[in-house]
Amino acid sequence: MIYINNKNILEELKNKNNFCVIIDFDRTITTGASDASLGIIPQFLGGECLKERLKNYQHYRPLELDYTIEKEEKRRIMKEWATKTFTILSKYLTSEDIIVNSLKDANMHLRKGVKEFFKEMYENNIPVVIMSAGVGNLIKEFLKKEEVLYSNIILISNFFEFKGNKSYIDTEKLMASSNKDYSKIPEDIRKILDKKENILLCGDIVEDIRMIDNKQRYKTLAIGFLDHNIEDNLEIYNNNFDIVLADNETFDTVKEILSF
Ligand SMILES: [Mg+2]
Repeated sequence: MIYINNKNILEELKNKNNFCVIIDFDRTITTGASDASLGIIPQFLGGECLKERLKNYQHYRPLELDYTIEKEEKRRIMKEWATKTFTILSKYLTSEDIIVNSLKDANMHLRKGVKEFFKEMYENNIPVVIMSAGVGNLIKEFLKKEEVLYSNIILISNFFEFKGNKSYIDTEKLMASSNKDYSKIPEDIRKILDKKENILLCGDIVEDIRMIDNKQRYKTLAIGFLDHNIEDNLEIYNNNFDIVLADNETFDTVKEILSF
């Protein structure tokens, strides 16, 4: 189902070349039914790692999808979730090989049409910034495996470093869904983006809008994928996104809407 809430900005962006893409990863680039990048490693390792992850996930995921929680309170909760999740992962992630191997049978799939969309962006020299509060190392491997890690892609995420058989990440500096915003894009990249006439933003939760600066909202076409709690959340998605693609829509639809 397609909801178009702002025809003007859509017309402005159509058939244009002077824009950039800022896009979320989990369940935006991947399907709504895919596991999040944070869930893949526990799923692969099983045992205690999975048990700890699931306990956390079952508690926090419904809160993430709950738009009745006051904003500041939600940020606090999401930060708490990220810290716990990355602490668990770091405990069990003893080598980089685990990341590569965990993707082999993972429930992580590109949304239909993503491959063609990314290829088109690459061929037209359009910068694509992927922002993710997930595991950057894993996302990079996944994009490589799917053969879409083009040179125009800039991945901003959380990266583990490996030394011996230990992994390290600074949980104080995590990008969580609570602080995933424009300020997390490095300045040299922002300079490139600022020169673009328009921005195409894609996300699957309302908070993804914060990937742009508020000052850029007027020139941004924001597309929201809504695959969960559709009935409850349709109104808030329609109020926040210029276009809402509900119920497992694809990037073929995005391309069609934009007349690429
Ligand atoms: Mg997402």
